[in-house]
Amino acid sequence: MGEHADKSIVTRRIALLLAALIVGAATGPAPGPVRIIGGPTTGCIAGAVELPPQGPGYVTIHLAASAFWGAPSTVAAVQLLGRQSQAAGIGELYVEEISRPRGGPISGVHAAHQLGLDIDLGLDTRPKPALTSAERETVELPTLVRPDRRFVLEDRWSPATATLLRLAAELPDTDRVLVNPAIKRKLCDSVTGNRAWLRRIRPWYGHAAHMHIHLACPADQSECVSQPPPPAGDGCDATLAWWFEQLDAPPAPASEKPKPPPPMPAACRPILAGENPS
Ligand SMILES: [Zn+2]
Repeated sequence: MGEHADKSIVTRRIALLLAALIVGAATGPAPGPVRIIGGPTTGCIAGAVELPPQGPGYVTIHLAASAFWGAPSTVAAVQLLGRQSQAAGIGELYVEEISRPRGGPISGVHAAHQLGLDIDLGLDTRPKPALTSAERETVELPTLVRPDRRFVLEDRWSPATATLLRLAAELPDTDRVLVNPAIKRKLCDSVTGNRAWLRRIRPWYGHAAHMHIHLACPADQSECVSQPPPPAGDGCDATLAWWFEQLDAPPAPASEKPKPPPPMPAACRPILAGENPS
């Protein structure tokens, strides 16, 4: 309870309101063929489809504050992960966020989820009771990380947790999966055999109760700007140690103001304004 502070419902409701103001009257997806425009922190999508509220192995949560639209390949990826998780004996996945119907800004917490290529889902793999519709709005994702942020909570970690992360990392289109550094460290310390997938599991702030799956730009989307690929290797190295060094010696507060996000691509304006894309 209460430790899922990286994405509180209040924050998300405010973000949703802001997104609604930006998106204006555009409530449904922009029609037409799939068109993904922009990069990791600014962009939009036309031709998005909505993930059904539930399916084999998954259910969506926090429906009032979240949105579940994405590229057709993104929706297919969630459905595949649900089926694979179910087959692996993992409890129902709680899907918390994909994108708005036309993409664009959604969250003040981090800038992703604008292209219909990002998925947030809970890390808790335990069997779960069926939720009432009210519970689906309020259910909290339990953190897997100790309050000191250095290690996972062993009583909430199981081999199934690693299996779920591997399935997510090995989805056909996965570019990277963001998790708390303590979760990455636990994988580094415990995964044996094939470790190639660890390259795609990257440490990031928060993400102690949910993972963020970022899918690569589909090959036919020339206006979609990819991130640089993760560095070679399993990432169980100095780049991971850096996160824990910051806990020991946090850097001085930045004297510069944080940079504003890059401007929205011009081709997104008619999409986000609700006009049909040209
Ligand atoms: Zn996310």
